[in-house]
Amino acid sequence: MKDQFKVLIIGAGTGGLCLAHGLKKAGIQVEVYERDRTRTGGLQGYRVGISPDGSRALKECLPSELFDIFVATCARAPKFFNMLTERYSEVLSLELETGHDPVNEEKSVSRMTLRQVLLTGLEDIVHFDKKFTRYEQNEDGTVTAFFEDGTSASGNLLVGADGSNSPVRKQLLPHAKLEETGIISIGGKLPITEETKSLLTHKVFNGITMIMAPKAYGCILHAMEFKWDHGGVKNGIGGNDAELLSRWPGLLYDNTRDYIMWGFWASRRSFPANPLEIKDGEQLKRMVLGMTESWDPKLRKMFSLSDPTTIFTVNIRTSVPIEPWPTSSVTLLGDAIHTMTPGRGIGANTALRDAASLCRKLIEARGGGKSLIQALREYETEMIKYGFEAVIDSRKQMDDNTVMHKPVVGRIALACMRTGMRMVNHLPPLKKKMAANLSHSRGANRESSD
Ligand SMILES: Cc1cc2nc3c(=O)[nH]c(=O)nc-3n(C[C@H](O)[C@H](O)[C@H](O)COP(=O)(O)OP(=O)(O)OC[C@H]3O[C@@H](n4cnc5c(N)ncnc54)[C@H](O)[C@@H]3O)c2cc1C
Repeated sequence: MKDQFKVLIIGAGTGGLCLAHGLKKAGIQVEVYERDRTRTGGLQGYRVGISPDGSRALKECLPSELFDIFVATCARAPKFFNMLTERYSEVLSLELETGHDPVNEEKSVSRMTLRQVLLTGLEDIVHFDKKFTRYEQNEDGTVTAFFEDGTSASGNLLVGADGSNSPVRKQLLPHAKLEETGIISIGGKLPITEETKSLLTHKVFNGITMIMAPKAYGCILHAMEFKWDHGGVKNGIGGNDAELLSRWPGLLYDNTRDYIMWGFWASRRSFPANPLEIKDGEQLKRMVLGMTESWDPKLRKMFSLSDPTTIFTVNIRTSVPIEPWPTSSVTLLGDAIHTMTPGRGIGANTALRDAASLCRKLIEARGGGKSLIQALREYETEMIKYGFEAVIDSRKQMDDNTVMHKPVVGRIALACMRTGMRMVNHLPPLKKKMAANLSHSRGANRESSD
């Protein structure tokens, strides 16, 4: 089938926009429909870790100058992966591979910034204020999407890239369910100043840090430093990056500035009240401070200096893997089909992998090598396998049914884990191997995003 077809994407998130770029670059007709009312609507600026797998997918789909802008808009790359106790003592610290390879380096990007990058160049393709409500598959093989404002759009393929509550999935696969893991997270941000910086050690300021505490309380810390501030591109940012940033229109819409970000999590049963019902940032902050009284004063100071307007809660949910379904002119990608816990930091990376893989298959179908349905079946077969494997793997990290949550056994398990990691921490060759395994598992030095 050497044919032209039109793709409708529901959702201008990480995966949907990456796919739109790939299709546009290949000359395939594509339109994106997003429920947010404007370009700056809807998103909190938390940190998303982009792995080599994610970067490879972006490189494949984005025009090359936009990929360079993506790299230039990332925060300074993390140099360490640290595990600490709640008393701020080091359990393990791995040195991460950093260098000048734009794909193989682990990256930190603000979600808001990534969205602004991905919207760049798609101004004529992304339609805001279009809340998808339902679709109809027509007798001629096309599909029509309907929106809340009474309008509709038709194409040959509908892609639900509409996130974990996906209305496309609910219609296509009504039996696919999301499950609560029993874990709730509270996150917040504070600007980087001399005072806040002094609360972090050199390795914590320059790394990704996990705190594993008794009662299965956990916390993650990141310091995000960008190449721009309130006055525009910072002094000292060199040639190419400064030039790219000064020409990038997305900067106009992006209010991201250097920040320290923390995310605290615990079993829902451990919170004195349900955080999901509390909207007041100050109250949520007091809740975290109340639950961390035995923690190091510097960590607690960091919680207390956080801007209450940045504090948010996340109910950690996960997809329940399902069997493959009959392929049709409606498909799914990203969180819409495989929502996963943030435990492994691969939700966005898997959405990007889906986008690159689907794009590749659609280019093959357009070239006449296979039918559209055959291309979609191949995409779905692969995506269901790696997507649900990632779901299962991520759940192991965040689930209140694990041994860490049992009162006595949990303490013993934590102590054993810390002892094992401290031993590794004193054995440089083992540490090096662990760091290499970590970056390999995130796709470093692989040939393709498949
Ligand atoms: C605190 C936190 C930290 C995270 N950290 C990481 C990390 O470090 N690394 C990582 O890989 N992942 C991370 N993730 C996960 C990651 O953010 C998601 O997996 C990723 O954004 C999913 O991309 P997506 O394109 O599938 O969906 P989304 O990016 O959620 O996009 C869905 C889009 O669809 C739109 N939409 C929804 N309903 C409709 C409708 N009815 N009509 C039209 N549009 C609609 C939404 O407005 C949204 O724009 C994190 C998540 C959280 C909560």
